[in-house]
Amino acid sequence: MKKILLIGLCLLLISGCSRSKHVEGKINIVATTTMLTDLVSQIGKDHVSLTGLMGPGIDPHLYQASAGNVIDMQNADIVVYNGVHLEGKMSEIFDELSKVNKTTIKLEDGLNQSALIHVDEETLDPHIWFDVKNWEDGARYVAQQLSAYDPENAADYAQNAQDYLKQLEELDTYVRTRAEELPSSQRYLVTAHDAFNYFARAYGFEVVAIQGISTSSEASTTNIRHLADLIVEKKIKAIFVESSVPTKTIQSLKDAVSSRGFNVEIGGSLYSDSLGDKQSNTETYIKTVKANIDTIVDALK
Ligand SMILES: [Zn+2]
Repeated sequence: MKKILLIGLCLLLISGCSRSKHVEGKINIVATTTMLTDLVSQIGKDHVSLTGLMGPGIDPHLYQASAGNVIDMQNADIVVYNGVHLEGKMSEIFDELSKVNKTTIKLEDGLNQSALIHVDEETLDPHIWFDVKNWEDGARYVAQQLSAYDPENAADYAQNAQDYLKQLEELDTYVRTRAEELPSSQRYLVTAHDAFNYFARAYGFEVVAIQGISTSSEASTTNIRHLADLIVEKKIKAIFVESSVPTKTIQSLKDAVSSRGFNVEIGGSLYSDSLGDKQSNTETYIKTVKANIDTIVDALK
């Protein structure tokens, strides 16, 4: 009878049914983006049961939490999110969670404030994960926060963090070494939305984007015209589409360049605001960052 009632209730709520797997004896964690879900799994390993709200290819700027997501967050032991207004449509939910004293880990709090890039006086750039050094700070912060919540397993979190930090340091070196294959005059990254400022600062690129730092802003025709001129002037070989942003804006840029008698290739797809998936062998942060730098350097060489 109880079961029937529960099913009935679930049908009633439709999307309201929780997807999270509540596991006894583990810390039940809900994380927003694919990057964060991966990060928490690297540090928490067997001690955590993880639910990631957003899948591969999902745009976090525009993501609206479903009723089921909200239930998952309310039921979780810890909610992990990026902050810096990345999850732009979820800020009210985070406010509500803090009102009921839900334990949250906001990655922004683990970063050195001086590491954050200002877009203008009021706006900070949320795409912090593109500088591997930021992600190292994030890993340290997650380990510290999990240890505070679960001191019994603190030694494990510290060890996991140490192992992961070593891999991240190797990753940072890999990105740097590949970037150096390009002379600095060729390090132009033209893409759909302004996600790559941290990448540019860390690895010596000039980034030019059609849209602003959030995908919710529209691409203007003036922007496209200016960018087309720049591509012709600098003889930029390739421009890039992004996995979580529609390709039409980058295609109209390519067309504008063609109409100026120059050809620019679409150099491939970059992962911007989400990781890839198992099928494309990009289901982790490390694999995704490698795929991006390989795509960029191979197309611009
Ligand atoms: Zn973005």
